[in-house]
This record gives sequence, C-alpha cells and structure tokens, in this order.
Amino acid sequence: MDSLCSQLGRMIKEEKVLAEQIKQVQKEVDELSVQYGGSIQVRFIRCGSPNCYCARTKKGHGPYYYLERRVSARKVEMIYLGKEKADVNHYNNYHCKMSNLKKRLRAMKKKHQQLCGAITGITQLVKTDFE
Ligand SMILES: [Zn+2]
Repeated sequence: MDSLCSQLGRMIKEEKVLAEQIKQVQKEVDELSVQYGGSIQVRFIRCGSPNCYCARTKKGHGPYYYLERRVSARKVEMIYLGKEKADVNHYNNYHCKMSNLKKRLRAMKKKHQQLCGAITGITQLVKTDFE
C-alpha cells in the first residue's frame, strides 16, 4: 500500500498548490474587473445649441468613448474615457487579459476537481485496505 499512500501524499500536495494558484488568479481577475470591468460604448452627443453644426448632422459630436458598468441590479454607471481610440485601447487590453485569465481559471478549476475526485477515490482504496 506504500506506493498508493505516497501517490496520495503527492496528490494532496499538488491539490494544495493548485488551490492556492486558483485563489491567486481569482484575486487577479476580481481586481481587474473592479477596475476595468464593463463594456466600451461609443456615443455621439448633440450639445443642444441650435446654432451648432451638430444640430444639422445626423450624429452629433463625437465619438465619445464610455465605459458602461453595472453597479447594482438597477443602476448602470457610464464612465467617460475620452475621444480617442487610444483612450480605449488599454481597456481593451485589460479585457483581453481578463478573458485569458478567466479561461485559465476555468481550466485550473476543472483540473482541481479531477484531482479532488482522484484523491477521494484513492483515500477510499487506502481505507478499505486497512479495514
Ligand atoms: Zn453641437
């Protein structure tokens, strides 16, 4: 039973490391989504002045870029980012990074689940051997 026990020991260690990594990545994702979560919106706005050229155009002034973010079940917040595509680029980069991290997190959680299942299985085996 020795090899099975040492195998179990290794798996338990691996499980702990993996659980810690999952916690780290989850934390990173949470922090990113607090700062950068939401979707980018493009708006064109009429200033309201009847003499302005925007009164005669279809769209209005713009484009203006906003970050739209849900702050509660009923409330959505619009944060002004800027007029230039460049003002939005770093948000897009973070969104990209975030979705990569989430993908990694899903894979890690799946592996963790499998590992826990295997640990439970071997634990059962080791137990029945002693009974
Ligand atoms: Zn105007």
